[in-house]
Amino acid sequence: MKIPLLDLQAQYRAIQPDVEAAVAAVFAAQSFILGPHVQAFEQAIAAYSGVAYACGVSSGTDALLMALMAEGIGAGDEVITTPYTFFATAGSIARLGARPVFVDIDPVSFNLDPRQIEGRITARTRALLPVHLYGRMAEMEPILALAAQHGLAVIEDACQAIGAEYRGRRAGALGAYGCFSFFPSKNLGGAGDGGLVTTNDPARAARLVRLRNHGMEPKYYHQVIGGNFRLDALQAAVLHVKLKHLDDWTAARRRNAARYDRLFRAAGLAPAPLTLPTTPCADAGRTDDAHCHCHIFNQYILRAPRRDELRAFLTARDIGHEVYYPVPLHLQACFAALGHRAGDFPESERAARETLALPIYPELTDDQAAGVVAAIRAFYRG
Ligand SMILES: *Cc1c(COP(=O)(O)O)cnc(C)c1O
Repeated sequence: MKIPLLDLQAQYRAIQPDVEAAVAAVFAAQSFILGPHVQAFEQAIAAYSGVAYACGVSSGTDALLMALMAEGIGAGDEVITTPYTFFATAGSIARLGARPVFVDIDPVSFNLDPRQIEGRITARTRALLPVHLYGRMAEMEPILALAAQHGLAVIEDACQAIGAEYRGRRAGALGAYGCFSFFPSKNLGGAGDGGLVTTNDPARAARLVRLRNHGMEPKYYHQVIGGNFRLDALQAAVLHVKLKHLDDWTAARRRNAARYDRLFRAAGLAPAPLTLPTTPCADAGRTDDAHCHCHIFNQYILRAPRRDELRAFLTARDIGHEVYYPVPLHLQACFAALGHRAGDFPESERAARETLALPIYPELTDDQAAGVVAAIRAFYRG
């Protein structure tokens, strides 16, 4: 049984008529740049996430870059973030001439460990950039408290966490900015690249809208240097159709995670040798989380002994999996000038060595999930 890591064709079959009608409407109007489709989608995302303003942009990477630009962050500034994330988080900081200052992760949530942040704050620190990795929100209360105490902006990298909740508030609604990606493999994925920045502050919202279009206001008068960071109308139209299904898809991902949990335990693979992902609700001893979006499972990540041997075993059996991310950012060649070495962020390095992503997409069937678990069982019994 060949099982993909992600099956976007299964998703498309369920929504094809609506997507095609939305695309046809954009073609009929021949209005491709910003305009009503982008605006309607921005309003829908703002409502969905519980924020006042949403600014559609060209990618999650550009969302991060624009949020940092809107805060005026540049050469000489420091931004505190995690080394265990997709590259764009720290890449955006460095592209503006600022320094990514890394803080290690909490081994259970894989997110920034708030207890280690304060020791890294200096006179140059301008912002805290937590990532809600894999769809589980970072521990925001202490992060927001530290930011308030030190006068720092909080920029949420919510690229993997649309709709995720922290104490009743959704990703992107807690910090000064929330940055989203609509890369096709995200829970809300477009037909190509796309992203969005949220904020509750009208002044920041105005800066974002200006930066997105070359800092231009009014037409051909440039107040600041921005870029072309616009979201395509075609992408907005597709994403708006898909947004209506997002809560159902999230519920299915959460059911899939619960099913893996049952299957791995029944197979005698958990709690050992595998370490399964938990949700914040479960960590707090709550069992009433059926409708809570405290983890939206953009990825289902477990820790596995002999991870690389297991990978080879799954590859040979056509079972989809991935390693997010094999090299933490402080050890990437492009950041050598930051002067880090192996051992600086031990939990990030351990996560990079031990974790494995399994298929969790909403359409994953009982048989497929059982096939994944049976293969892993065969590996550890073999
Ligand atoms: C996907 C992702 C990004 C970048 O998004 P793009 O749309 O691919 O540019 C940034 N940060 C995180 C954590 C991501 O997962």
